[in-house]
Amino acid sequence: MPHFAEGIARFQREVFPAKAGLFARLATVHRPGTLFIGCSDARVVPELITQTDPGELFVIRTAGNLVPAHTPGADGVTAGVEYAVTVLGVRDVVVCGHSACGAMTALAEGHDLGSAPAVAAWLRHADASLARAAVGGTVDVAALVRENVAAQLANLATHPSVARALAAGEVRLHGWVFDIADGTVEELPATASTALAA
Ligand SMILES: [Zn+2]
Repeated sequence: MPHFAEGIARFQREVFPAKAGLFARLATVHRPGTLFIGCSDARVVPELITQTDPGELFVIRTAGNLVPAHTPGADGVTAGVEYAVTVLGVRDVVVCGHSACGAMTALAEGHDLGSAPAVAAWLRHADASLARAAVGGTVDVAALVRENVAAQLANLATHPSVARALAAGEVRLHGWVFDIADGTVEELPATASTALAA
């Protein structure tokens, strides 16, 4: 991984000095304003898309930007959501889907995931998204991406930490879709779950 060493060296030489003051403050303060939940896809880089500095986004990335609905018991996504909302007190939560999503494509096209059973099981968290997108017959990937963002926002609202913050008017939920080919970000209309925060 030679390019990593080169990148780290360039970061320390060219990037860090220009932001030394910011990093000095961040050394003792962690107060991001936004929880950004995006896909693990390497082409969807939250800080690049939003042009935000270190310290601004608390990021959770999962395959398909899926947020399992709340269930009793701990898991990494739930812990991250709860920490961001309850402990850090973020004011905004973004769920960001994207064009050409591998997870959504696999679901829309019914790919055989027999060799990746964990992926297949994880993608079940998009069952509702798929069910809605499938009304009328064939599933369009772009339509599924949008339905999935809405479904994950609804799932998010089932988490007690989010439900409490929504009821108190302390957090707003947003659904985005990033287009890789043209760099646009579309904000989806407020859904029932996001409207709770209006
Ligand atoms: Zn994706």
